[in-house]
Amino acid sequence: MCAGCGVKIQTEDKNKAGYTPSSALEREILICQRCFRLKHYNEVQDVSLTDDDFLRILNELGNKKGLVVKIVDIFDFDGSWLNGLQRYVGQNPILLVGNKVDLLPKSVKRQKVIQWMKKAAKDKGLKPVDVHLMSAETGEGVLEAADLIESYRNQGDVFVAGCTNTGKSTFINRLLKEFGAAEDLMITTSNIPGTTLDMIDVPLDDGASLYDTPGIINPHQMAHLVGASSLKVMMPRKEVKPKIFQLSSEQSIFFAGLGRVDFLKGERQSFVVYMSNDLYIHRTKLEKADHLYETQLGDQLAPPTGDELTEFPALKRKEWKVEAGKFDIVYSGLGWVTIDGPGAIVASYAPVGVEVTIRPSIF
Ligand code: GDP
Repeated sequence: MCAGCGVKIQTEDKNKAGYTPSSALEREILICQRCFRLKHYNEVQDVSLTDDDFLRILNELGNKKGLVVKIVDIFDFDGSWLNGLQRYVGQNPILLVGNKVDLLPKSVKRQKVIQWMKKAAKDKGLKPVDVHLMSAETGEGVLEAADLIESYRNQGDVFVAGCTNTGKSTFINRLLKEFGAAEDLMITTSNIPGTTLDMIDVPLDDGASLYDTPGIINPHQMAHLVGASSLKVMMPRKEVKPKIFQLSSEQSIFFAGLGRVDFLKGERQSFVVYMSNDLYIHRTKLEKADHLYETQLGDQLAPPTGDELTEFPALKRKEWKVEAGKFDIVYSGLGWVTIDGPGAIVASYAPVGVEVTIRPSIF
């Protein structure tokens, strides 16, 4: 067992919990690579867990007392939403934190996003004590997040929970730096009774602990369909610059080879694409769209590209009747298209398994 987190040590799979290089097996005190890195580089590494592992950890949360900090990626709100948390946390308060606010255009009113998050949380059955926005990367709102945690935890423990890729590790590492915990950071064996311990325990100065619950991978995230270099193109890294198109019916927009929207029927109106600035966005006539995809996927329409193409799922089509007003068609993990007009019939295309949803526009 790992002396840091209690997980079973294994030497086979780097991406699974408990991985330790075999060369390290001779060390006197055995800790897994994740804990090793946390301890020596002050860096938290993700490991994949099965759903069973994860449910077990969630159940442990209900038996402990403390504040649950739920992190969600506001650019991929649905795709990064950790389901079922409310059911598991028992009486523990939840602070909902939307991360990556730096990706939203500056013109977007933060208060509006918070209102939208509150409503979305309610619709999903979550009752947070508070909702906060931050950027773990730039530091915007991080100190305020720390203050909120401090006031809601009532000197109790803190559990940070979220899907992988929401920025949970970036946030925790930043908190550790802000509070100068880095020097005396010690991995201690967690004291959750009677279970295997999979949470990383960071001692706080009043004797309570901050636990980093392992991130769960959401299999519907677009991020799992492409390799690392395509991911760089696909995942926005900086403030997203909206791309505005005035479309007539029977026109289409491609999001590289990752998705597409067809404007089938309706008056000429605006389609605004909120996706990574580096992603190739291509407008074409509807009648040419299928042929273009067949012949240009991997070339002009890339990513996906190279080896990714063999495993890349076919695009699934879905028709939408968009009411008058301003609506977002959301492509999980990719971004969204805001349609603003007197109503329209559109078709969305996304890889099989990647969710497409519609919502009243956030801004
Ligand atoms: P975890 O899997 O939830 O622990 O997420 P990480 O901390 O590893 O972050 C996932 C990715 O999101 C990394 O590429 C980070 O650089 C990036 N990231 C984390 N926080 C932010 C943020 O506030 N803004 C932006 N733009 N990117 C972020």
